[in-house]
Amino acid sequence: MAEGNAAYDIVILGGGSGGYACALRAAEMGKRVALIEKDKVGGTCLHRGCIPTKALLHSAEIADQARDSETFGVRSSYDGIDIDGVHSYKDKVVDRLWKGLQSTLASRKIDTIEGSGRLISPTQVQVGDTVYEGEHIVLATGSVPKSLPGLELDGERVISSDDALKFGRVPSSVIILGGGVIGVEFASVWRSFGAEVTIVEMMPQLVPLEDEASARLLQRAFRRRGIGFELGARFESVKHTDSGVQVTLAGGKTLDAEILLVAVGRGPVSADLGYEQVGVEIERGYVKVDEYCRTSVPTISAVGDLIATPQLAHVGFGEGILVAERIGGLEVHPIDYDGVPRITYSDPEVASVGITAAQAADRGIETVEFTYPLGGNGRSVILQTQGAGKVIAARNEDGSPGRVLGIHLVGSRVGELIAEGQLIYNWEAEPSDVAQLIHPHPTQSEIIGEAMLALAGKPLHVHA
Ligand SMILES: Cc1cc2nc3c(=O)[nH]c(=O)nc-3n(C[C@H](O)[C@H](O)[C@H](O)COP(=O)(O)OP(=O)(O)OC[C@H]3O[C@@H](n4cnc5c(N)ncnc54)[C@H](O)[C@@H]3O)c2cc1C
Repeated sequence: MAEGNAAYDIVILGGGSGGYACALRAAEMGKRVALIEKDKVGGTCLHRGCIPTKALLHSAEIADQARDSETFGVRSSYDGIDIDGVHSYKDKVVDRLWKGLQSTLASRKIDTIEGSGRLISPTQVQVGDTVYEGEHIVLATGSVPKSLPGLELDGERVISSDDALKFGRVPSSVIILGGGVIGVEFASVWRSFGAEVTIVEMMPQLVPLEDEASARLLQRAFRRRGIGFELGARFESVKHTDSGVQVTLAGGKTLDAEILLVAVGRGPVSADLGYEQVGVEIERGYVKVDEYCRTSVPTISAVGDLIATPQLAHVGFGEGILVAERIGGLEVHPIDYDGVPRITYSDPEVASVGITAAQAADRGIETVEFTYPLGGNGRSVILQTQGAGKVIAARNEDGSPGRVLGIHLVGSRVGELIAEGQLIYNWEAEPSDVAQLIHPHPTQSEIIGEAMLALAGKPLHVHA
């Protein structure tokens, strides 16, 4: 076995969002970095997650616009989906960003090493016959789609999100197991492409991590779009039929479709990589870390989907940067995960930051709420989208609203608004702080502005 020299300050295992963000920040700080990746830098987000799904959702939006153009006085005809064209557009987007990422990594003099790595000591990762030694090791091996016991994915009729992104046709009908972000986004795409879609969700609402009011609005919109869903429904079994699959739910109800997409979550990639042998503590498959992403081994950190924090690309970026800065000797602060924005990019979109009403109740926090319907927002009416913006604030002793604790939005394009929401939440603003800021008209940002005006006691476009 060839011994690599201890040439690196940091050796990073896994080149997805968490790993590459750590590499970029560390290199920027003058660190010598090796980034080991067995597939393609960019990981799940770039190749099998955020980017390709959002490209599909954009194609879906164009399809809907072509179909609905008469609403806006434009004559056009919708002739259907050219799935090869959709994939070619999506792949071009991914490829362009992948090339950009590779060149950014190279420009920072990061050594990107192709191959499958294994942790062999607190300071060493082995790839093939070569050992890469670093003063610090960062584990960032990410996650892969999970299934349920006894539910086997065959890539043809029972598929994962990885398979769905490459599916060579628009299925006539789909059952989606799991009404979380991934399930809901694919439901939205396939419905726009013309498929019959039914979501099966075990919890009592779609997007179970979101505020109940947001879920209700999404469910209403999906019903209107003809997307079916079974809530509080437990999957029992699936069998192949002549025309596809038949799913049986607990209680005996059956559903038939051409394919079943399993979107029941993602599990960490931590097995058989030497982690436990080197002393890295694992809990339910996740690498255990403290609030600074330090594992039980002092020289080893872990970031991204591999640790039990929200499985989001931007969380991976944040954790990667935190680790690079900590190793680089800068003062770092633990991440407030409540303050990380979350978006489901379906039609309509669901976006939020901070806590839900249920979480506030669980934590014994008294709150004041205001909900501004999109029907009162000029830009949203122009776009013909429906939904609402809900703001939750702490209730001061005198009953007035204090710090904003949660912002929850539903409607087309509202994902872009949550960046303002995150500033409000993370800067611990109160409604009266925001109410004095003039929001541009006509924009959807006025949804937030109007809600803050109302909470501050001076509602503008609101019925008395
Ligand atoms: C369908 C879908 C849609 C999503 N949409 C969004 C979204 O819109 N917004 C958002 O924020 N998040 C989204 N996500 C989640 C996001 O993709 C993940 O949170 C993010 O990619 C996690 O980054 P990571 O670096 O932890 O792991 P990954 O991106 O999974 O990267 C891990 C990398 O490690 C490599 N690796 C693993 N083992 C080894 C080994 N032994 N040796 C070398 N390399 C190895 C893998 O090949 C991989 O490239 C989506 C996910 C999916 C599946």
